[in-house]
Amino acid sequence: MPNVQHARSGPVQSSNTASPFWIGGQGPDDLWIATPCHIKDHAIVASISDLPPRLFFCRDTTAMINEDSPQPLKVTIVGAGIGGLATAIALRRNGHLVQVLETSEIKTEIGAGIGVQVNALRVLEHWGLVRENLKGVSYDGITTFDSKTGDGVARRWLLPDMDQNRSLLCHRKDVHDELMRLAVGVEGEGPPARLHLGRRVVDCSPEDGTITLKDGEIIHADLVIGADGLHSIIRTSILGHVQTAPASGYSCFRSLVDASKLREIDDIDAEWFTEGLSGMRGLQIKEGEGYRMVVMYLCRSGTLINLVSIYADPHQDNPDWSPVGTREELLRIFHDLHPKFLALLSLSDTPILRWQLRVLPLLDNWIRGHAALLGDAAHATLPTLGQGAALAIEEAGALGCLLPRGTRREDVPGRLEAYQTLRKPRGDYVNREALEQATEPVKRGLYFRSHEVQDYLLRHNAIKDAQEYYEKYFGSGA
Ligand SMILES: Cc1cc2nc3c(=O)[nH]c(=O)nc-3n(C[C@H](O)[C@H](O)[C@H](O)COP(=O)(O)OP(=O)(O)OC[C@H]3O[C@@H](n4cnc5c(N)ncnc54)[C@H](O)[C@@H]3O)c2cc1C
Repeated sequence: MPNVQHARSGPVQSSNTASPFWIGGQGPDDLWIATPCHIKDHAIVASISDLPPRLFFCRDTTAMINEDSPQPLKVTIVGAGIGGLATAIALRRNGHLVQVLETSEIKTEIGAGIGVQVNALRVLEHWGLVRENLKGVSYDGITTFDSKTGDGVARRWLLPDMDQNRSLLCHRKDVHDELMRLAVGVEGEGPPARLHLGRRVVDCSPEDGTITLKDGEIIHADLVIGADGLHSIIRTSILGHVQTAPASGYSCFRSLVDASKLREIDDIDAEWFTEGLSGMRGLQIKEGEGYRMVVMYLCRSGTLINLVSIYADPHQDNPDWSPVGTREELLRIFHDLHPKFLALLSLSDTPILRWQLRVLPLLDNWIRGHAALLGDAAHATLPTLGQGAALAIEEAGALGCLLPRGTRREDVPGRLEAYQTLRKPRGDYVNREALEQATEPVKRGLYFRSHEVQDYLLRHNAIKDAQEYYEKYFGSGA
């Protein structure tokens, strides 16, 4: 029978090892799932329902409280999308006590593909990504086709020193599952983050790090991260007013098709899709019926085809706008494509997801007191550069560097200032550039032509930058 330990929500220093591990909780049924940072043998095994709060069985009977150890930060992350989970990974690894509140009852990423570009992979690998888990298809460039004639031009934009580290085309669920493993899994550094589904946050007091849930519960934290997407409630609290993301006038159909169905269109020739440069296939559609664009690629180890069909949609603000479309509607809007492209689009199963593309204006501010915005909550934009989720991952990586183990509650506002200084210019750049490269004819497709834009986006090393910034302004010599 192990001893009962009196444990505070905070670090416990084991007497027989120099490595701390973390235990804590708000009540007997509310155990911070505690995993030792490095040592499996010291795992907490249970909380005891009939004992007062913060009493736990602990397998390490020699553990004792070290009052001088720095307390971990209590972190509340709002939203369990790619940005929220990435932040949970970054901060649990530093020993902080992280909980993620997600409004959905069942959190799954929508059935669609996503390009995970090298700048995001660099951060994920820093956290211990198992690359095979992403089941990615190598994303080396794009082949664009004239939509009418079917003629293609391949643009290879793999950067010279990236041969070992290629961007990947993935299914969102595979990315989300890997992030979930790294965030809440018992393996890995620091205490696993706790995910609470069906918890809708309705208010936040950024100055003191308090959030209010729909059921009235109030949670106090040292740090609140608003990773709550396009319609962020934390954004309202930080800015002090509602900032909506206006309709861009573009919507898109998104569907996934079983790649084995390609056999059904063999007689039309699918080589344009399967052969040649590994990566995206894009259609240039000349103006006439409003801007339209189609992007297609293989993902999930080549077993699925991801189709994204963007079109000018004047009905976005109509109350009867529907988030589902039909194959007939898709084929009507893209009726004038070359038959080989129509053959692929027509493989889509209905109903097809329809997505509104909305763009946030540049925000004055991403931070206030103990709260900060991250991901789409800070810079939702058009998918032209395919960098929205990548930026969220980079931002999470930066937060991890700026809030290391030992950060105190009173340090948080200053570290968030640093986060904003470091990250906002890049977020603002992607927000504007993605919009302009879609809407200004002279800039269309610039990403695929310009080495300057590619270098800026893909060579970026968010961890290195943030580590250097931390060393300069907060490191021991600062
Ligand atoms: C067509 C398309 C293609 C794209 N392709 C790419 C690509 O190839 N590469 C790339 O990097 N990016 C791409 N993006 C962008 C990318 O999808 C987004 O930038 C990214 O998913 C944003 O993640 P997030 O975590 O910030 O927000 P979200 O994914 O929106 O997550 C927010 C979460 O917060 C929850 N939430 C909201 N409000 C509350 C609340 N009040 N309380 C609790 N929970 C709440 C939501 O339920 C949700 O789970 C694309 C976008 C589109 C539309």
